[in-house]
Amino acid sequence: MHIKPEPDSALAARVLNLVDCGLVVLDAAHEIVLWNGWMVPRSGYGAARVRDRSLYDVFPELRGSRVEAAVLAALTEELATTVPASSGRTPFPLREAGSFDGERIEQAVSVTPFSEGGERFCLIEIRDVSGAAGRERRLLDHAESLRARSYIDGLTGIANRRHFDVALDRELRRAQRNGGALSLLLMDIDSFKAYNDHFGHQEGDACLTAVAQALAGMCKRPADVAARYGGEEFAAILPDTSLAQARAHANAIREHVAALKLPHAPSAVRPWVTLSIGAAACDPERLNEPALLIEAADKALYAAKRGGRDRVVADGDSSAA
Ligand code: GH3
Ligand code: MG
Ligand code: MG
Repeated sequence: MHIKPEPDSALAARVLNLVDCGLVVLDAAHEIVLWNGWMVPRSGYGAARVRDRSLYDVFPELRGSRVEAAVLAALTEELATTVPASSGRTPFPLREAGSFDGERIEQAVSVTPFSEGGERFCLIEIRDVSGAAGRERRLLDHAESLRARSYIDGLTGIANRRHFDVALDRELRRAQRNGGALSLLLMDIDSFKAYNDHFGHQEGDACLTAVAQALAGMCKRPADVAARYGGEEFAAILPDTSLAQARAHANAIREHVAALKLPHAPSAVRPWVTLSIGAAACDPERLNEPALLIEAADKALYAAKRGGRDRVVADGDSSAA
């Protein structure tokens, strides 16, 4: 390229070699007249090796590519074009500076026509977007996994308390809107302090995980939510479920967990792990808010404990009063 011998030409040439993107200028015959310093380590070609050669001699794979189309549009129709970076698109065989066996860098390419001294040229700018694109992707992935993790109990892998709160609020509103039923179960492992004291905290954790997984396996309808409510307490939100159905389901859960026969010698009830469960169902007059529904289920759970554990008590049972 003819850089006019103006006082700042040395400065301009220096800047061309400092900019953080590839600059290639082609003349009307698609021959390379400028190749800046950025291109050198990424292509493996110095400026002297490519000058006056056709772009497609240097990079045969550009024949028929979107870059060639953009160059043609610039040189014949004076149209500027951007070839956006999209995944898997690396039009130029460029690699990170100094590495010739690494992955190609992702590129955003723009082609701009211009005239100088009555001749047509086009400027190709190549930006390395692998860093920016990769970083953005990593951030999105990370945000996604954080969002997912913030609703999952780290120990047991089921919904956590935050998820439970959101889901109960949502499901209660839905039930009220549709005039549908909604039941809540609160479950507590019997004599779990003794379990920890006897088997150790790590075994205790494993037991909590086993119970959580068993519970999740019993709450399989799409809108059901099985959650870890607190330490060794679990909850199940059961939409479209009456109190009678909830009681039956609670008994099925209780029997299912008992049938695992997770050894629990020091239990006050049985020599295996058991659950006490309290059930409550929403109703428009009395239990029409999350806190009230939770309170009713919790009272029923307390009655189940008082009544001897390893049992289900539903809101309204005489023992729950
Ligand atoms: P009850 O039959 O009345 O429910 O008796 P309990 O011993 O289960 O009741 P309590 O609430 O006194 O004890 C609960 C125990 O659960 C105490 C605590 O050490 C244990 N626990 C709470 N969270 C965890 C946990 O994340 N891991 C383990 N290993 N133990 C936990
Ligand atoms: Mg407890
Ligand atoms: Mg307990």
